[in-house]
Amino acid sequence: MVNLQAITSGGSRTVLSEATVEEFRPTLGGALILPDDPGYDEARTIWNAMIDKRPALIARCVGVSDVINSVKFARANDLLVAVRGGGHSFPGNSVCDGGLMIDLSLMKGIRVDPDSLTARAEAGVKWGEFDRETQAFGLATTGGTLTDTGIAGLTLGGGIGWLCRKYGLSLDNLLSVDMVTAEGQFLKASATENAELFWGLRGGCGNFGIVTSFEYRLHPVGTLLAGMLIYPLEAVREVLPFYHKFVSDAPDELMTGAAMLTSPEGQPVVAIIVCYNGSLETGEQVLKPMREFGQPLADLIGPMPYSQVQALLDEGFPAGRRNYIKTNFMNSIDVDAAAIMFERFASVPSPYTALALFQLGGAVARVGKDDTAFYHRDAGYHMFLASIWDNPEDDERNIRWTRETWSALEPFSAEGVYVNEMGDEQESFDRVAEAYGPKTYERLVALKNKYDPTNFFRLNPNIKPTV
Ligand SMILES: Cc1cc2nc3c(=O)[nH]c(=O)nc-3n(C[C@H](O)[C@H](O)[C@H](O)COP(=O)(O)OP(=O)(O)OC[C@H]3O[C@@H](n4cnc5c(N)ncnc54)[C@H](O)[C@@H]3O)c2cc1C
Repeated sequence: MVNLQAITSGGSRTVLSEATVEEFRPTLGGALILPDDPGYDEARTIWNAMIDKRPALIARCVGVSDVINSVKFARANDLLVAVRGGGHSFPGNSVCDGGLMIDLSLMKGIRVDPDSLTARAEAGVKWGEFDRETQAFGLATTGGTLTDTGIAGLTLGGGIGWLCRKYGLSLDNLLSVDMVTAEGQFLKASATENAELFWGLRGGCGNFGIVTSFEYRLHPVGTLLAGMLIYPLEAVREVLPFYHKFVSDAPDELMTGAAMLTSPEGQPVVAIIVCYNGSLETGEQVLKPMREFGQPLADLIGPMPYSQVQALLDEGFPAGRRNYIKTNFMNSIDVDAAAIMFERFASVPSPYTALALFQLGGAVARVGKDDTAFYHRDAGYHMFLASIWDNPEDDERNIRWTRETWSALEPFSAEGVYVNEMGDEQESFDRVAEAYGPKTYERLVALKNKYDPTNFFRLNPNIKPTV
């Protein structure tokens, strides 16, 4: 090995001598991967194929000690740092060009305690893995709507999933964390220990340190009534306003989404996706008006185990495709918004693209805006516009369509944006501040000044230190 070209935290070039790198290697229990090593491309690849970044070094951590030593090494050499959990960040925050990628994806430990209804999971765990362990005990907590998303990034910024209207966001179920600070110091945080830091970790998107394990509250969750109603796209102008009315006074047990997509047969459709987290009999009653509305092409709703509910959308969002995503909050879906969605989706350039709305409210809205650093508690829906395609030659066309569609829907948007799903908007300081919310952002800056005054953790919706 010769000396290694790298990038500093401030973005300038630096060189790491062979001796410096070789001193670091034995401090890790896991592998240190350099650009010429086998496995380098696999280790730097994340979910979105649009991201093609080349770190100078990848530390494949297998425990807390590896995380501490990686942080200390990066600090001693002033390296740019990326932290990887599940690797689902679509703007590519979990990998960097020229810096040190601290890769937690091998940290897979999960321990469920069925007596205290809690589980502790390490930072490389994905929701499918977490659910498998907790479901062995008939338990679950709010996760994301794909099995492939990491628990780490998702929890630190929010956590919208099929159980959220009943049990709150993933971060509302977080009881404590173990973490490593920007100085390489180990800390615990909970409601009773480092409480202000714990407040900020629940919504602050990894700005204050590397969480090495998460402790969650669990709930009994078994077979649920769930699935989809599928209508032709032309029906969207009637289906969406009816859907909006139907869910407006829905019980907390019901979580829903609406999505415009293209069926495997190539037909543009609108799907109403439901999950009733309560008794099957009551679920049948609650869902009746929606199931009796209009003339669906298919009614695919039925009882299914929670782990199957969690995998319902997996097929539509596989790793390795090109993705450009823009999101927003919305409070209502009227005929005008539905008409614009219809018009825009009729010209969608790719059959993999989806325009989805996920219902919020319920337990999400009952937590105080200041109780955690997740501010936008009163939003009605999370709008997720995901353009997905394969061929790099189609980048421009798909990105343009996404931006135009998002702009056309902007008049119907509500305040703020989901901080976990900011694409290129995270480059705008004002938009990031809006995503955290006004007073919340100021309080987060105070924490950033205390725990990360040099902005060591900067590849995230960044809270800028002011000291
Ligand atoms: C197709 C798709 C579907 C999604 N569905 C949902 C959904 O249903 N519900 C929802 O709420 N969100 C959803 N998201 C958004 C998701 O919450 C974020 O992308 C989240 O950041 C992913 O976490 P990760 O660990 O997989 O990502 P990573 O890419 O590994 O990390 C994301 C960010 O978190 C930081 N980070 C990761 N691990 C740690 C750690 N241990 N300590 C400190 N910082 C860390 C990273 O540095 C990075 O900034 C979805 C995203 C996509 C692309």
